[in-house]
Amino acid sequence: MTQQHSGREHGRQQRSRQAVIRLLRERGTLSRAEIARAVGLSPSTVSTLVGSLVADGTVMELGDQLPPAGGRAGRPGTAVTLNPASGEAIGVDFGHRHVHVIIADVAHSVQAAASAPLPAGYDPGLGLDAAAELVRSAMAEAGTDPSRILGVGVSLPGPYDRRSALPGSTLIPAWSGVPVAARLAERLQLPVVADNDANLGALAERQWGAAVGVDELVYLKLHSTVGAGFVSNGRLTRGAVGGAGEIGHLVMDANGPLCRCGNRGCLESYIGLANVTRALEPAYGDRISLREVVAMASRGDRGCVRALKDVGEMAGRAVGMLCTVLDPEAVVVGGAFAAAGELLLAPLREAAAAVSLPAAGSRPRIIPAALGARACALGAVALVLGQTGEAHLSASSA
Ligand SMILES: [Zn+2]
Repeated sequence: MTQQHSGREHGRQQRSRQAVIRLLRERGTLSRAEIARAVGLSPSTVSTLVGSLVADGTVMELGDQLPPAGGRAGRPGTAVTLNPASGEAIGVDFGHRHVHVIIADVAHSVQAAASAPLPAGYDPGLGLDAAAELVRSAMAEAGTDPSRILGVGVSLPGPYDRRSALPGSTLIPAWSGVPVAARLAERLQLPVVADNDANLGALAERQWGAAVGVDELVYLKLHSTVGAGFVSNGRLTRGAVGGAGEIGHLVMDANGPLCRCGNRGCLESYIGLANVTRALEPAYGDRISLREVVAMASRGDRGCVRALKDVGEMAGRAVGMLCTVLDPEAVVVGGAFAAAGELLLAPLREAAAAVSLPAAGSRPRIIPAALGARACALGAVALVLGQTGEAHLSASSA
C-alpha cells in the first residue's frame, strides 16, 4: 500500500519534471512563476522541482541577466533555462536559391549559422546534398557532438503534409512526392522533421520575434512566393493536408494573369517577387533586385515607390479578408519584401482596413517581422524544440 502510494508519487514527480523540461525546451527562458502558471503546479512545488533539476545539472538559473541570442530580455525574477550542454537542435531552410542552416542549443542560443547558394529550380537531390554538407560544417564549427542533437527541422517553400511526410502539392513540382525528411535523415543519420516555410516563420516570430506571446496570429511571407502561417489558440493551423495558408493562390481577379497553379489572377501572380521585378523591367532594366527597388524607393524614386505601394495594396486586400475570417491579434509581415518597411506597410494597412469589417474592438496590429532572413531556419529549430520526444533529452542529459 505504502509502496504503491510512493510509486504513484514518484510517477507524478517524473511527469511534472518532464512537463517542466518540455516547457523550457519550447519556451527557452522562464521565471519560476511563469513555469508554475504554465504547467499548473504550485509555486512551492515548482521551486522544489527546479531545485532538483538545478542540482542534477539539467537546468540553470540565470539570476537577472536575461538571456541569449534568440531570447527575450528584461523580465523580472530569477530566470530558469535548460543547461545548453544538454542538447542542440538544427534548422535547415530550403529557399528558392539558397539553403540556410542554424544550430541552437536547448537554451535557445544560436551556436552556428551558415548559408550556401543554390541554382534556381535546383534538383532536390542537389539541395539535400548541399544541406547535409552545410549541416556537417556548421556542426564542426560549433563543436557539436552528433549524440547531443535532438533533431533537425526542415523548412520547405510550399505545402507540406506532415501525416504522409511529403510535400503536399504540385506547387513545387520538383519536390512533389520526395520524402524530404527521410532523405535528409539518411544523409545525416539524425531524426528529421519538416514543415512549410510560412508556418515556421510564424513559429519563430511568435517564439523570438515580433509576435512573442501572441496566440491569434497571421504571419505573412512576402517573398519569391507568397504564403501565410496561422496560429490559433497558440498553435499552428495546418489544415487537413498541410495546405492551410497558401494565400498566394487566393484568386484576386478571375480574369487576371495566368498563374503557375493553373488559375488566373492569383495574389502571387501580382506580388510574387519575380512578377514585381518583371513589371519594373521596361523602365529599370532586367537585372533590378528587390534590394535596389527598396533603396531607390527610400530615396524617393517614384516608380519604385509605386511598385512597393502596389504590392502593399494587393497584399493588404488579402490581409483584410484574412482578418475578417480569422480575427487575429496581430499580422506579422515577413519575407524579403518586409525590408521595404513603411513604404509597403502603410498602404498594406490602409488596404486591409478598407476591406475589413468595421472593427468591433481594436484592429489587429499589422507589424513588420523581426527575424529577417533567418526566420524560417529559426522556426525549424523551434519545431524541433517543441516536439522532440523526451527520450532524447533524458538520454543526452543523463
Ligand atoms: Zn495560383
